[in-house]
Amino acid sequence: MPETLATVTAYRRRDHAGVAQEVLDGAGIEAIVEETDVAKVRVDNLDALRAGDVLNRVDVPLDEIEEADEAKRNEVCPACNSQNVEASRKWQLFGVIAMAVMGIAIAVSRTDAAFFILAATAMYVLTANRWRCVDCAARWD
Ligand SMILES: [Zn+2]
Repeated sequence: MPETLATVTAYRRRDHAGVAQEVLDGAGIEAIVEETDVAKVRVDNLDALRAGDVLNRVDVPLDEIEEADEAKRNEVCPACNSQNVEASRKWQLFGVIAMAVMGIAIAVSRTDAAFFILAATAMYVLTANRWRCVDCAARWD
């Protein structure tokens, strides 16, 4: 494979990139799939225009990513600009609370009340912020 490769397109799914690769192969264009955070389909620079043409003519519903060469937008903390962030584990938390509430409810024979508490907790969990900064503990959506 030559050194000068161009990214023709990219997909979120490896199998979609594989389909594009086969289509190009069928058109006599050697392509490789390079997996980074996405599956990029790359060809020799000289074949890039033709490859784009070939893929445009193919009627396969593939989940193509626009602007393939742009870096994936990483979630950044709005408070301290740290990239050390994590998605909060909302449902895990809900599971823990639900177990505790049900345990108490069964112990005191008040499962009707427990139901309301769980519903309220579920509402809270669903509206809670999605991201959490590991460095400064800021939360945002
Ligand atoms: Zn932060």
